[in-house]
Amino acid sequence: MTVLYIAHTECDGTLSKVALESLSTAKKLADGLGAELTVGLVGADVAAAADSIAGCGAKFLAVTGPAYNDGVYSIDLAAAEAIAKAAEAEIIIAPATSRYSRAIPGLAIRLGGRVDTHISCVEAVDGKPVAKRWFYRQRMEGTLTREERPWIMTLDSGCSVAFEGSGSAEIETIEADLSSVRTKPMGMECVSEDEQTIRPDAQSLLVAGAGWSKKQADGEVHVAEAEDIILRFLSKTKASLGSSKSLVDISGEGGAVISFLTHMHQIGQTGSSPRHAKGLATCCHGEEPHVVGWRFIKERRAINTDASCGWAQGKCDVLYVGDAFEIMKKVNELLD
Ligand SMILES: Cc1cc2nc3c(=O)[nH]c(=O)nc-3n(C[C@H](O)[C@H](O)[C@H](O)COP(=O)(O)OP(=O)(O)OC[C@H]3O[C@@H](n4cnc5c(N)ncnc54)[C@H](O)[C@@H]3O)c2cc1C
Repeated sequence: MTVLYIAHTECDGTLSKVALESLSTAKKLADGLGAELTVGLVGADVAAAADSIAGCGAKFLAVTGPAYNDGVYSIDLAAAEAIAKAAEAEIIIAPATSRYSRAIPGLAIRLGGRVDTHISCVEAVDGKPVAKRWFYRQRMEGTLTREERPWIMTLDSGCSVAFEGSGSAEIETIEADLSSVRTKPMGMECVSEDEQTIRPDAQSLLVAGAGWSKKQADGEVHVAEAEDIILRFLSKTKASLGSSKSLVDISGEGGAVISFLTHMHQIGQTGSSPRHAKGLATCCHGEEPHVVGWRFIKERRAINTDASCGWAQGKCDVLYVGDAFEIMKKVNELLD
C-alpha cells in the first residue's frame, strides 16, 4: 500500500506550516499502516522544499516549472493527477491550503476516488486508515472510514506538529498534461503581511468590538483613530485580528466602519473559533455568542470601560477596566 502526501510550494519556494503539519500526519499514517510513503511536490522549483523534508524517508515525485507557481485550479489539478497516477496511491493526503482546498476535490473526480475535506486527524486503527473531522462548528467530532480508493483527504491547519527533518532528496520529475488548460495567469501578487490581518499561525489574537465605532466620553465617534491604534498594534505584534459580529455588521447598517474588517474576521457562534495561545478583546462586551468562538484560546484578556461586562462574568482571565483607546495607545508606545 502507498500513502501519497502531495503539497505545493509557496511563492518563496518553501512549504507552508500546514503543509509540514500534514506531512507529519501522512508519515505517521504510513508508518502505522506499514505502507510506503511517497511525497509529491508541485511548484516552480521544488528542490529546496524537498531537501527541507528529505528526512521523512519517502520517495519523491515532482511536477515543476514556472506554470506551477501560480495556483491556477486546472494546472494544480493536472499536476496532482500526474503525481497521483505515477504514485498509484490508495490514500492521498494534502494540506488544506487555499490552493488545494480548491483543486484537490477535483482530483477525486479525475481518479474516480472519494474526497473528505477539513480532516483534523488520520491514523491507522487495526490496520485501516481512520479519519476525524469536526462538525457543527467544532461542537461534534466525527470519525470516518471509507472502502473506496483512492481516498483523498485535505488536512486543516493546527492539528499536528509541523514535520522537521532535512536532508538531500532525490526527486523523480513527472510531466503533467496541460493540453486542456485554457487559463493563462497574468501574474501573481502575494499578500503582504500587513495587508493580511487574519493570521491563523500568530501567537495572539486581538479582537475589536463595536465599542471602537461608538460615541466616546466626548460624545464623538473616533473611527479613524481606532483604525490607527488597531493597525499599529497589529503591525508591531503581528497578532491576528478578529472582530465581534456587531462591528462587522455595522457596514451593512450604514454606520462608521473600521475599513479593514470583513465578515471573515468574525469570531463566535456564527463566526470562527481560532486557536491562538492568547487573546485580547477590546471594546467588545463579551456576550456568549461571541465568547463561544474563544473556546480554543488558552489565555483570555479583555479591556472594557464597563466593569460588569460579559467578560467579567468568568469569561476571561484578566479584565482591564478602562478606556481601550487610552490603554492601547499606551501599549503601542511601549511596543515602540
Ligand atoms: C444567533 C446569534 C448568533 C450570534 N453570533 C455571533 C458571533 O458569531 N460573533 C459575535 O461576536 N456575536 C454574535 N452574536 C451577537 C452577540 O450576541 C453580540 O450582539 C455581539 O457580540 C456584540 O458585539 P460587541 O460586544 O462588539 O458590541 P456591544 O455589545 O455594542 O459592546 C460594545 C462594548 O464596547 C465597550 N466599550 C465602548 N467604548 C469603549 C472604550 N473606549 N474602551 C473599552 N470598552 C469600550 C462597551 O462597554 C461595550 O461593552 C450573535 C447573536 C445571535 C442572536
